[in-house]
Amino acid sequence: MSYILEAAGLNTFYGRSHILFDVSLAVSSGETVCLMGRNGAGKTTTFRSLIGLTPVKLGKVMIKGKDCSRLPAYKRARLGIGFVPEDRRILGPFTVRENLGLGRIPGRSGIWNEETVLEQFPLLVHLMDRLGGTLSGGEQQLLTIARALISNPDVLLLDEPTEGLAPVVVAVLKDLVLNLKKAGITILLSEQNIRFATSVSDRAVVIDKGHVVFTGTMEEFKREESVQKKYLAV
Ligand code: ATP
Repeated sequence: MSYILEAAGLNTFYGRSHILFDVSLAVSSGETVCLMGRNGAGKTTTFRSLIGLTPVKLGKVMIKGKDCSRLPAYKRARLGIGFVPEDRRILGPFTVRENLGLGRIPGRSGIWNEETVLEQFPLLVHLMDRLGGTLSGGEQQLLTIARALISNPDVLLLDEPTEGLAPVVVAVLKDLVLNLKKAGITILLSEQNIRFATSVSDRAVVIDKGHVVFTGTMEEFKREESVQKKYLAV
């Protein structure tokens, strides 16, 4: 089986604190995989290790079979990892159009450009000349996803996309992720919102205290009530 993104035995430290212990996961083409876990379980650290923002002491990260464990973040982005950070990082003094344009990566091309991206994000169309700092939290979240998509990633990483959003915006996000899936995008997301995660994902990976404690299909995950109770805030 060839994976778009694969992590094998990741061990990551912050200083002397051992945070990730042999974390392995894999995402195949066209799949949506959800990394689930409580606050502090290690979701963001896993993402940072995958994209190259935090060094991995032991273990491998592979993009389309190529070992990129020692590559800096910008080179992994060129290889096809698109990242949507939890804290969004929209540039307040720049317009929405300028923020969107910042997602482009020289040398990467594909079906996603300003026009095709906006077809997926109709709510952004009328905001293009607004300053990023004036957007609501939900609008900023949509913009960060759009900005990652315009880089034509092979896999899109969404770190807790529903965090802090009103239910009505979560519903918009759900439709968006389902549409991106239909368009063939490969997605790895992290979530604490089980309802959102189960409605958009094909497979689940549950992490607790830096250890992977469950990997399976969403159907299997839904049946594992003990996993949900033990490792997630259910
Ligand atoms: P959250 O939903 O709160 O973001 P998470 O599952 O993404 O949780 P991480 O942010 O990956 O969890 O944190 C994993 C562990 O690493 C936690 O115990 C956290 O306190 C610790 N940690 C995170 N960032 C640092 C840091 N910069 N230095 C030291 N420890 C950190």
